[in-house]
Amino acid sequence: MSSIADRLAGIQTRIAEAAARSGRAPDAVKLVLVTKTVEAERVREAIRAGQVDLGENKVQEGRAKAAELADAAVRWSMIGHLQTNKAKEVLTFADEIQSLDRLSLAVALEKELQKQGRSMDVLVQVNTSGEASKFGLTPQATAGFLKELKAFDSLRPRGFMTLAAFTPDADVVRACFQRLREVRDRAVQDAPGGAQMQALSMGMSGDFELAIEEGATIVRVGSAVFGARPTSDAHYWPGVAGTHAPKP
Ligand SMILES: *Cc1c(COP(=O)(O)O)cnc(C)c1O
Repeated sequence: MSSIADRLAGIQTRIAEAAARSGRAPDAVKLVLVTKTVEAERVREAIRAGQVDLGENKVQEGRAKAAELADAAVRWSMIGHLQTNKAKEVLTFADEIQSLDRLSLAVALEKELQKQGRSMDVLVQVNTSGEASKFGLTPQATAGFLKELKAFDSLRPRGFMTLAAFTPDADVVRACFQRLREVRDRAVQDAPGGAQMQALSMGMSGDFELAIEEGATIVRVGSAVFGARPTSDAHYWPGVAGTHAPKP
């Protein structure tokens, strides 16, 4: 069996190759290594291999793991659905929140950040698949949301995040990524402070190369490095059946 370091290197190579296909430098795409359900000691192997950016879907697990790995120079991205009453707790470990999907969450985060005298990079989550099980704003609602976000001094919108449809149909998946890119392009042109919103977080173990071809600047990959998870995906994305296994 290959090691975590070997698989990580393999993913980095595939990222670099996909970036080259889309006419970009290898370092134009950042890998956020998703560590949910993975115990801290295995995450440490990835850190020893040079991985810096880590992602967690749930606040409690992220907080606990970040505490276990407090000695490591890493950055944590919150990538999962956030309850408003977890705003304070997520700020104990997250360096960035990719799953900002509604005004009430912005209000809760802003209030807590003000109290702490800090600010935070955020990505706006967009539902590009139209699936009811996916969180995120509709593409149509995004421009209005960005205007409202201007009033939140502690939140720094840096771009957008999405989960594509879970389907083997590459055209459907690609259309989701294209939709997010269109939302981004429009925001960069029209939104207040739009030039700062270039980030496109899209693509997971099964579809990150497609996402990079469509312009991803951040990919979120877990099981392709750590192996299949013991938990069903319904635990993270309500309404999703079984596990969203990466293509071999
Ligand atoms: C789990 C998760 C990922 C990574 O999924 P893999 O298929 O294991 O790569 C990406 N994004 C989010 C929001 C996740 O919860």
